[in-house]
Order: sequence, then structure tokens, then C-alpha cells
Amino acid sequence: MFEYAPAPESVRPEIKEHYGLFVDGEFVDGEAVFKSVNPATEEVLFTVAEAGAADVAKAVAAARRAQEAVWGPMSGAERGKYLFRIARLLQERSREFAVAESLDNGKPIKETRDFDVPTAAQHFFYHAGWADKLAYAGLGADPRPLGVIGQVIPWNFPILMLAWKIAPALACGNTVVLKPAETTPLTALMFAELCQEADLPPGVVNILPGAGATGAALVDADVDKVAFTGSTAVGRAIAKSIAGSKKKVTLELGGKAANIVFDDAAIDQAVEGIVNGIFFNQGHVCCAGSRLLVQESVADEVLSRLKERVATLRVGDPLDKNTDIGAINSAEQLERITALTETGRGEGADVWQPACDLPENGFWFRPTVFTGVQQSMRIAREEIFGPVLSVLTFRTPDEAIAKANNTPYGLSAGVWTEKGSKILWAAERLRAGVVWANTFNQFDAASPFGGLKESGYGREGGRQGLEAYLDV
Ligand code: NAD
Repeated sequence: MFEYAPAPESVRPEIKEHYGLFVDGEFVDGEAVFKSVNPATEEVLFTVAEAGAADVAKAVAAARRAQEAVWGPMSGAERGKYLFRIARLLQERSREFAVAESLDNGKPIKETRDFDVPTAAQHFFYHAGWADKLAYAGLGADPRPLGVIGQVIPWNFPILMLAWKIAPALACGNTVVLKPAETTPLTALMFAELCQEADLPPGVVNILPGAGATGAALVDADVDKVAFTGSTAVGRAIAKSIAGSKKKVTLELGGKAANIVFDDAAIDQAVEGIVNGIFFNQGHVCCAGSRLLVQESVADEVLSRLKERVATLRVGDPLDKNTDIGAINSAEQLERITALTETGRGEGADVWQPACDLPENGFWFRPTVFTGVQQSMRIAREEIFGPVLSVLTFRTPDEAIAKANNTPYGLSAGVWTEKGSKILWAAERLRAGVVWANTFNQFDAASPFGGLKESGYGREGGRQGLEAYLDV
């Protein structure tokens, strides 16, 4: 008989019992201590220091010294070498980062292993390449760094959002102080260790775990720019608090994307796209295709095939590589999803969930499909940020566009049709930062990502993303 070696996912990474703040190249104590919990089991994974306003000031001062004395004056080619080194280290330790991310966040290992960590590494490789070519980015002959950047990120893609924020900022000669989300600080702290391993000069990257108050203190601190990804409500508060100051800001906020299936679409492909659009990462995706708009003539067929497919999704242990839907990130998020789903029932939409066993401990939510949804219902208007799909129908292409655009958000949209002309027609009319055609949730470091309307402003990725970190 053959013996199989244990899968790399079955080896737990060495998670420390306690992590400090990462300031000026060292791990230091903070103002208080909080716990990080594995949402799939509710077990405490580690404790972590929480940064107060004084810690924020120290980190910003360290970042300022590093920017003025070392990182800003350094040639782009030298900065690029550090970024390449970070990218390679992230690749080398990718399995470890993938397991740690699944433990701390609850997302399935197949997603952290095949998407989050490789895409994070790709962002460092991509921006390493830009570091000595900024003068050729079409943003002026001598684009200058902005200085010190305060960055605040959410919990849904912890290491990937960190990479989206840190890689372009560093490539452009800025230094950063980043606050990870309170429920998912682990991979940011492992990234801090990786910066030490890469011999990154102290102060270039500072990581300050903490909750909203730490984020607010960072926004108020002496930074030159704030880069925020998170909810529209907090984004609005940040925009207000820095209005009138010299600080620049980019905001990547919420969404309620329409995924439009026309009657001439390849139905099986579209069903896969619908599933990927809303159930990827438990639906904790700002650009999730959470509103399915399906043409009336094919609605019955699409829905019956969709339900058949959703019934095959495996919900459970995030470290099992066959798992499709992992744990909800926190008890609070589970409460929010449950409450909004209840409003859908209350407002008269029809709810469908496949029969599936959920683990006893941890935070779980069954994949959910609402039909008979009206535009006015909360489940059609508000971001649920969970594995919940709202299905609406339309008769004509014009009606599809009108319904798709009837939202305060404008982050992404999907179009499913076999006609190229219809794709272009729809893409021109959809008010969304990204429009995917016959696919969904595709990302690339070279492709700018960002929103319109209440989904925020500024772009991340690509040449456009560099502009957000340069004085041009
Ligand atoms: P959130 O706005 O509650 O928190 C995001 C981050 O902001 C966290 O680190 C949090 O600690 C911090 N924060 C909270 N209050 C703050 C304050 N007053 N000042 C400064 N920082 C503060 O959002 P969340 O629940 O963590 O994340 C989910 C939201 O993020 C969703 O709305 C989702 O659509 C959005 N999101 C957007 C994108 C994008 O690229 N557009 C990507 C991922 C997530």
C-alpha cells in the first residue's frame, strides 16, 4: 500500500501566543491586548497588542523618518529589489500564509491557497517592476512620493488587501502605517516578520492592530494620505474628518453588484459564474454579484439549475480542501447576515436554502437564494456581505440596465450573453467601476479596481493605482 505524505494544509503554521505592534522594525507592546478567534471553532488563536493614539503617533513618526532619510531618497531600482524580495518570500511561505489566513479568517483553504496568497504575491511582483519606471507611467516626468500613508483594511481579504495597499505605496517611495481589521490581524503580523526577514529598512512598514478607534487615530495622525477599504459608512466618516486638510484620500467601499443573465447566455457557464459571484469567500466580497438579474424567458431554467448546483456546495471546515463555503468571519457578521435575511422573509421574498449540516461550533450560514425579490426590498438594496443571493427578473435589455443601475453603489457588474455587441452595449451603460463579461470576480495586479457613486473613489492596481500614491 502507498502511504500518502500529509497535505501541507494539515501542518499548522507556528502561530505565536502573542503578537506585538510592529513599529520601526520591532515588535513592541501596545496600549491594551485583545484576542483573535478562529471563526470555525471559536477557539482563541493568539492575543495581540492594540495600538492607542500614542502608538499611532510613534509609528507615524518612524514612518516619517524612514521616508525622509532612507526610502524616499533610495533609487527606484533599489526599492524594486526589496519588493521583489518580499514577493519571493511570500511565495516561499505561501502554504503557511494560506493556512494561517484560513484559521484566522474562516475562508476555505482552496481560496487562500489558490487565490489570496498568490494574488498578494503577484501585487508585489507587479509593483516591484514599476518602482524604477515611474517616470514612464504617463504621470509626468518626475512623479514624487506623497510621504507617509495611513492605511486601513477590512477582514474579508486580509493579506490581499494588505498587498493592494502596501505594494504600490512602497513602489512609489512612500512609507506606510497599516491597520489590519480587528478580527484578522494574523497574516499582517506574519507579513511584518517577513519584512524583517527581507531586511526592509525599519519604519518603512509599520503594522498597528486595533479596532475602529485605532483606525480613527491613524486617520487623524500626521499622515499625507489615507487609503481606506471598508464599509461606506466608515468611508463617509473618514472623508468628513479629513475634509479641508491637505491629506489625500482614496476610498474602496461597499457594493451591491448586478449579475445580468440574458436569454442567449450559455446557461451552465452562467450558473457557475453566479455561484462564484456570490458564494466565493462566503459572499464577504465587496464586488460580489449579490443581485442576480435574469431574463424572464430563461428564469425558471436558470433557477432550477442554480439550485441543483448550490445543493452540491460543501459548507464546513475551512482547512478541508473540498470545502466551498467556510465560516462566517465573526459572530457580529453572522448576526448582520441573519438579521438582513430575516427582513427578506418579512418583506415577502421566497427563501431557499439547501439541506446541509453545519458544524456545531463556530459561525456558519447556509447558502441562501431569495426569489420574488422587489427592487424596494432591503435585500435588494443593502449589502448583506454574506452567502445570500437576491434574484430579480427583467424582460428587456433596457430594463436590465435600469434595474442594475438602481443602487447607490457602483463597484462591479457582470453580463452573461453570447453576443459581443450586447456585452459592449451593456458595459457602456452600467454605472460600475468593473464590468465582467461571461466571467465574474477576476482580478489582476495590472487591472485597476475601484468604484463609482457610494462605492468610493480612487483606483487600486495598474497604472491608475500608482497615481493614487504619487504627487503628479
Ligand atoms: P468596516 O468599515 O467596519 O471596517 C473596515 C476597517 O475600518 C476595519 O479595519 C475597522 O477597524 C476600521 N474602522 C472602523 N471604524 C473606523 C473609523 N471610524 N475610522 C477608521 N477606521 C475604522 O468594514 P468591514 O465590516 O470590516 O468590511 C466590510 C466592508 O468593506 C464591506 O462594506 C465591503 O464591501 C467593504 N470592502 C470594500 C472593498 C473594495 O475594494 N471596495 C474591498 C473589501 C471590502
